[in-house]
Amino acid sequence: VKRKGKNDYYVYQDDILKQKLPNLMLLGDLHKSIQKNELSIVYQPIIEVKTKEIRAMETLIRWHHPIHGTVPPSQFISLAEETGFIVSIGEWVIRQACEQHQKWRKIGLPPIRIAVNISVKELQDPYFSKRIENILTEKRMAPQYLELEITESMMIYNEATILNNLLRVKEIGVRLSIDDFGTGYSSLAYLKRLDVDTVKIDRSFIADCPHSYYGSVITNTIISLAHHLGMNVIAEGVEHREQLRYLEEKGCQEAQGYLFSVPLHAAEATRLLSTGIRH
Ligand code: C2E
Ligand code: CA
Ligand code: CA
Ligand code: CA
Repeated sequence: VKRKGKNDYYVYQDDILKQKLPNLMLLGDLHKSIQKNELSIVYQPIIEVKTKEIRAMETLIRWHHPIHGTVPPSQFISLAEETGFIVSIGEWVIRQACEQHQKWRKIGLPPIRIAVNISVKELQDPYFSKRIENILTEKRMAPQYLELEITESMMIYNEATILNNLLRVKEIGVRLSIDDFGTGYSSLAYLKRLDVDTVKIDRSFIADCPHSYYGSVITNTIISLAHHLGMNVIAEGVEHREQLRYLEEKGCQEAQGYLFSVPLHAAEATRLLSTGIRH
């Protein structure tokens, strides 16, 4: 148990009793999940707003627990982060993603990007960028098809290892994307420093579009910022046609959400890539 300050201690204890305890019981199981083949990946398409063509797939992890059933990432990712196990899980996800990409290339599907969520713990490993390079070589994958999704909150760590990993993967040609953009505490300076390729507008802003003033203004401002800085912009959590119409009108390039597709298993994702999105 971490003890930051006198008061934090009590907050943390309370936290454990309320939600961490059941999670801790999952911990032992999580460590065996990779070997036991309980982890899987689903893919959610990211479409180009203008053409409705699939431009990328985001990989999202799933854990099928023998007793508890499907455990959502919101329940085990933070646990995996706290224990450091996220480094193994993360590497497994990247390898799976690149392997799937290789399969898609082999059957002649048009090339798309594959996006992978990266946790700050992974970036604190000095060998992160080297491991990425190895996987790309192993899967014979051109680096520009791999897009790493990080959050702006990672920048507050201001650690050399994190920065070096990010600069190195950029140098190799891997793309960087800022997830949940607009929700973190950060200056925008890192956009330039890291030469960020993509920003993803957080779902909470899109949910408010176009009816709420704040949601629309923030969405609009992010689209405009991205355009002026020459970055690609993706709207997350698009569920309704009127949100899509709004995004189209504002010139948002790409969108992702239940309106197009829920996250899909590899076979379904492959089928969707060959047939395209119906709309
Ligand atoms: P995220 O990266 O922001 O991923 C988007 C989440 O929104 C996914 O939830 C997705 O299923 C959900 N979503 C997609 N479209 C819609 C929509 O139209 N409406 C709504 N309401 N939700 C939508 P999921 O799969 O439960 O993942 C939750 C979070 O867990 C992710 O948020 C990401 O932060 C984390 N995560 C997932 N997979 C991984 C992974 O492999 N590694 C790491 N480090 N984190 C992961
Ligand atoms: Ca993401
Ligand atoms: Ca997100
Ligand atoms: Ca998120």
